[in-house]
Amino acid sequence: MHNKKKDFLRKIVEEDLKSGKYKEVVTRFPPEPNGFPHIGHAKSISLNFGIAKEYGGRCHLRMDDTNPTTEDTEYVEAIKDAVKWLGFEWDGEVRYTSDYFDRLYAWAIELIKMGKAYVDSLSEEEIREYRGTVTKPGRRSRYAERSVEENLDLFERMKKGEFKEGEHVLRAKIDMSSPNMKMRDPLLYRIKHAHHFRAKDKWAIYPMYDFAHCLSDYIEGVTHSLCTLEFENNREIYDWVIETLELKPPRPYQYEFARLNINYTVMSKRKLLELVEKGIVSGWDDPRLPTIAGFRRRGYTPEAILNFCEMIGVAKANSVVDISQLEFAIRDDLNPKVPRVMCVLNPLKVTIENYEGFEEIEASYYPHDVPKEGSRKVPFSKEIYIEQEDFMENPDKGYFRLTPNQPVRLKHAYIIRCKEVIKDANGRVVEIKAEYYPDSKSGSDRSGIKVKSAIQWVEANRAKKVEVRMYDRLFKTELPQGLEDLNPDSLKVIKNALVEPAVIEEKADERFQFERIGYFYADPIDYSDANPVFNQIVPLKDSWSKKKKKASAPKAQKPTQEKPQKEGESIPMSAEEEALFERYTKELKLNSEVANTLARDSKLSSFFEEALKSYPKPVTIANFVTNEVARELKQRELESLKYRPKQIAELAKMVDDETISTKIAKQVFEEISQSGEEPTKIVKEKGLKQISDPTVIKEMIDEVIAQNRENVKKYRAGNQKLFGFFVGQVLKKSGGKANPKMVNQLVREVLG
Ligand code: ATP
Ligand code: MG
Repeated sequence: MHNKKKDFLRKIVEEDLKSGKYKEVVTRFPPEPNGFPHIGHAKSISLNFGIAKEYGGRCHLRMDDTNPTTEDTEYVEAIKDAVKWLGFEWDGEVRYTSDYFDRLYAWAIELIKMGKAYVDSLSEEEIREYRGTVTKPGRRSRYAERSVEENLDLFERMKKGEFKEGEHVLRAKIDMSSPNMKMRDPLLYRIKHAHHFRAKDKWAIYPMYDFAHCLSDYIEGVTHSLCTLEFENNREIYDWVIETLELKPPRPYQYEFARLNINYTVMSKRKLLELVEKGIVSGWDDPRLPTIAGFRRRGYTPEAILNFCEMIGVAKANSVVDISQLEFAIRDDLNPKVPRVMCVLNPLKVTIENYEGFEEIEASYYPHDVPKEGSRKVPFSKEIYIEQEDFMENPDKGYFRLTPNQPVRLKHAYIIRCKEVIKDANGRVVEIKAEYYPDSKSGSDRSGIKVKSAIQWVEANRAKKVEVRMYDRLFKTELPQGLEDLNPDSLKVIKNALVEPAVIEEKADERFQFERIGYFYADPIDYSDANPVFNQIVPLKDSWSKKKKKASAPKAQKPTQEKPQKEGESIPMSAEEEALFERYTKELKLNSEVANTLARDSKLSSFFEEALKSYPKPVTIANFVTNEVARELKQRELESLKYRPKQIAELAKMVDDETISTKIAKQVFEEISQSGEEPTKIVKEKGLKQISDPTVIKEMIDEVIAQNRENVKKYRAGNQKLFGFFVGQVLKKSGGKANPKMVNQLVREVLG
């Protein structure tokens, strides 16, 4: 929390608590149960529940069920699930506006008695006409002159169901010439002969939002009623109702914030319902929908969604958020958590002619810079499959994978070279005959052979067949207008993908990174041992921003017979970029992925070069630049960054000399990016120095052991997977400050 900038709502809440206006902050999340909640609701949930939690108050979950024809208990359940899944708890029972129908009715009668409300009998059309326009004042209905007695009588008979729908309405008597159109005698009740899913058939009239909402807030003791900007003009009615009824304080106040919109998707429940009802998607939980249920099934995590909500912040002006920001938040959350494994989507057989026998290669599930541990055995033999895309007979410039003249590394295993290309009658490549270099094994490579990339593969006889569902954006245009904008390729099912056996046999997690492809999630509904199904959560890289760039780049001159660029294929580098790439890989020894990112982005490379000037060790700096800095530059210009390259260099230096852990470094980075402070100063003032004193760490380990006797037993009895658990607990105990390498080593020593 410490480095989060306070938004305007939090500032208001803080002020109100400080001034004693309220003793406790009470918020509410008030969905209408007429559809599944979506990511826009998640923003409202994180705001309402978040504020209550941060300021020690409470947040109610209230179903705003005043429209009986569209509401259903199925939706109530979906809303409850979504709130819980996001990690929040509402105060007390779920509340319903329908529980307040009697009290609302009594207040309406009070308004009638005060001469502040009347039964109007104009037709819907007349009401609209009488209302006037923004430039023309309205006219009051002739029925506004009815006596209190007549109004009371008519209103009661409306309630009893004596009239047809539309015959009468109850209206507030305010001001037909108000510049705020909403104040021109707004409707308070309308007749509806509908069965209500909770109130059953008791009512033939239902209160309108403008009457029900403020009073429900008041009944519940809500202090801050947060809603989206469309309701700005309704605020005057909100206040009018409460003031006219002279309700005893404390009373709630309404505040508006910008609703969340995201490009390439639709967000209104009405439009989502249409997609569901027309069968365009498989249901409310279709992984392509922006519903919480859809995201959940796709494999998004609640943490990622909440981080996203925090990242986009709360503003007073509407805007459209780029969906790549959401995707970024997902990757950012999954990156340090999930095991890496190998999967081949479109297999191409490779026979390694000079390899005999079989071996199992021990390979870590996690890269070294994440504090998780664990490994699996990857089988290897002379028959393997690689991705079809990872071989090109006539490579484009800048193609770094296997070609007849370019060897490639098989990730975790050996370097291979293509000897022969076998094709079918149509000239399609169906098999590669290859040769491997026995002394090139990953980790003990003495071959001296240079390769430009490492590719994934699976052993042919032991790989497991899986179904992979590749999801893409549901709409192909940024601001979809209708069904004609649907992306026809939003779902591609790959029936015969192959994964290494550990994925199925060990189930180290429900989510995996399939190396070089993306993050995947075992489908919670369709996955079975007989037919394992994985949903693509998010691809590793943002292929759309590349596509967009390409689309907007000038592409004159080039003859049109050029091959269309396939998705995921790399765009050739310019000569300048290639020179940089060479320098980064050869001279600075950066890995090719990092080098690639830097070389292709001049903003990043110039930032990086500048940082190097003050601290000439490239690896850690490059990691910061390609991750943290790159993320910021997606959203703003280089000039508006709060920090300079030199500060990133300083930060990298502290990581390299183990003054701070990588985890803490990220925290420090967040701080620098907000305040522009010097990293050394932050580390000193906040006491973030890494703990590398073994006696201190041992003490923490002892505590963790004492608190987890059961798990210690299980671990000693052979459950090796718990190792990561212990390491994680110790790191957590240290507030992320313990040196992870040392923790790993000491946990191993202590647990034996
Ligand atoms: P939709 O227009 O998608 O049907 P809604 O506003 O009708 O949504 P409600 O169920 O009435 O949906 O909304 C419940 C709460 O969630 C309200 O407080 C509303 O302001 C908030 N909310 C709905 N959509 C968004 C959004 N896109 N961004 C932020 N908050 C939202
Ligand atoms: Mg609505």
